[in-house]
Amino acid sequence: MTGSSRRKFVKKTVKAAAGASILGNMQIISSCTSGKNASDGLEIFIPMPVQVVIDDVGWWSGTDGSEWQEPYRTGINRNHVPADYQAIVELGKSLGIRPQAATILCEWDKYNILSQLPTSTWMGEKWDNSKWVGDWLDEAAEIIRNNKEHFELTVHGIGHEYWENGAFTRAEWTDSNGQMRPAVQVELHLDYFERLMKQHNLGSFPKSFVPTAFRHSFGPSEGRKISLASLLRKRGINYINSPFESMYNSHRIQHKLFGFDDDVITIDRGKDEFPWLTFPGNPSKGLTSPTCGLHWPNMLHPEPERNLEVVQKWVNYLKPYNEKPEMMLAPDSFCFQQQLVHHSLTKTELKGNLIIFDFSETDKLPNRIGKEGLIIKVQTNKPVQFKSNGIIIESQSSVQNEKYLFTLKLRRIANSKGAQIILSRLM
Ligand SMILES: [Zn+2]
Repeated sequence: MTGSSRRKFVKKTVKAAAGASILGNMQIISSCTSGKNASDGLEIFIPMPVQVVIDDVGWWSGTDGSEWQEPYRTGINRNHVPADYQAIVELGKSLGIRPQAATILCEWDKYNILSQLPTSTWMGEKWDNSKWVGDWLDEAAEIIRNNKEHFELTVHGIGHEYWENGAFTRAEWTDSNGQMRPAVQVELHLDYFERLMKQHNLGSFPKSFVPTAFRHSFGPSEGRKISLASLLRKRGINYINSPFESMYNSHRIQHKLFGFDDDVITIDRGKDEFPWLTFPGNPSKGLTSPTCGLHWPNMLHPEPERNLEVVQKWVNYLKPYNEKPEMMLAPDSFCFQQQLVHHSLTKTELKGNLIIFDFSETDKLPNRIGKEGLIIKVQTNKPVQFKSNGIIIESQSSVQNEKYLFTLKLRRIANSKGAQIILSRLM
């Protein structure tokens, strides 16, 4: 609510009444026609969700070593510290979201297990990570473990690139011609990612993935029988985020903002505001895609104790999206996926005092995605009340500015044929 003193905020949360489908006595808005209502200025939105995705988390060295066959890393002129992890958590707490930290884990290797996976690092079989073994690992691991609701660990990679004979090519999972690395290597890199997580008790294997250097093929690449998404799916990953513009075989994507690759939803990252080495970033450019993509240095400060000054700039930049009728910040990546498919495919129609939902296109998607629920926003000139039929209003809140903006969190009822929201005027 900071910085909004000129506005009057009315916030309330209403628990869904049991049997919400039973209609009470209500005064009907008789002047309502359809679509946009003239006198009440009524407008219905299924807002586009915005998910924050932060790349290249996990390095301890900030050095860009690409000129001497070490990885690109984050390119900053200091080492990373646990406060850089706390910065992600603080961003999440301030906005009520769960940012995705697309993580690189080679510099977390306490036991030099990566010497057995020479394609994963610049040292190959002579891998020695002792330089980066210290208390900071435990401190950062504790931050990740204790703040799971504001930090989603997303698979990015082990060493970010792919090494053969002492030299790397881009990138770890897919080469620069769009061909996935040999499946046996992909499997090994995933095995070792999991083993590195276990060294630090970082939790269960992630459900999300961001390909390094955005080298990725949608569906199988040339010469490969299986897609990377299929290999990830076997590990429980059900969501990939990457820019469609640079994705190989992007013509196979079924919908504008997302597609399903062997049932793994793949969502467009769009274009980041900042290059990966902008340190720090001061965001101002309007978001045009559902992903707010950035790299770790963009949200950190050269002096780690001042990280929160940069985080605050991102908070100030992102918070107003929750107050726009047509957009919202996704609370986590699961809600993000659900909301995005509803935003893209679910239709609403305003008929009299009814908002009528048509889920027929959404329900054709795999994995029951979209079956849980969605958020709608209703903008009106006058206050209104909501009741539901065939769907549950889990909670609602409203903001009064020049108009009223109601946000309704809806939960779908299994096997319900149709869903309606019934509007009534409060005064
Ligand atoms: Zn990266």
